[in-house]
Amino acid sequence: LERTLSIIKPDAVERHLIGQILARFEQSGFRIAAIKMLHLTKPQAEGFYAEHQGKPFFDGLVEYMTSAPVVVSVLAKENAVKDYRTLIGATDPAQAAEGTIRKDFAESRQRNSVHGSDSVESAVREIAYFFVDTEIC
Ligand code: ATP
Repeated sequence: LERTLSIIKPDAVERHLIGQILARFEQSGFRIAAIKMLHLTKPQAEGFYAEHQGKPFFDGLVEYMTSAPVVVSVLAKENAVKDYRTLIGATDPAQAAEGTIRKDFAESRQRNSVHGSDSVESAVREIAYFFVDTEIC
């Protein structure tokens, strides 16, 4: 089965939405194969978003991602990467389709409640960023 990396971001954790968001993952056919809560350090957030270094929103993104704990998980399903992106919706909640997690919960383009890997290659890299193989069931 394909795997993707999910992050429930600080805005959602602060608003006590962890349970509701995890329920949506499971209701949508994803198996939670690994999960942990952590408060990202600045170097951890900068490393995770290295591809965005130099962009105008980078510093704000790192500040936001380190502002409160996050919940990182590995989700398993056929076509997990693509199906998870469909489930969460567009980056900007104003553009997100009805019924998506970002449409229902996100506050802004930055504070958009969840992250999902954008390709199978990114998923492999992002999963390894947070989990060792023995932590994935
Ligand atoms: P993610 O990678 O978190 O799933 P994404 O792939 O939809 O989101 P990216 O373009 O990779 O979006 O941007 C990473 C994150 O940076 C976004 O989820 C959002 O939190 C923030 N971000 C992206 N674009 C902007 C922007 N124009 N202004 C503010 N924040 C932004």
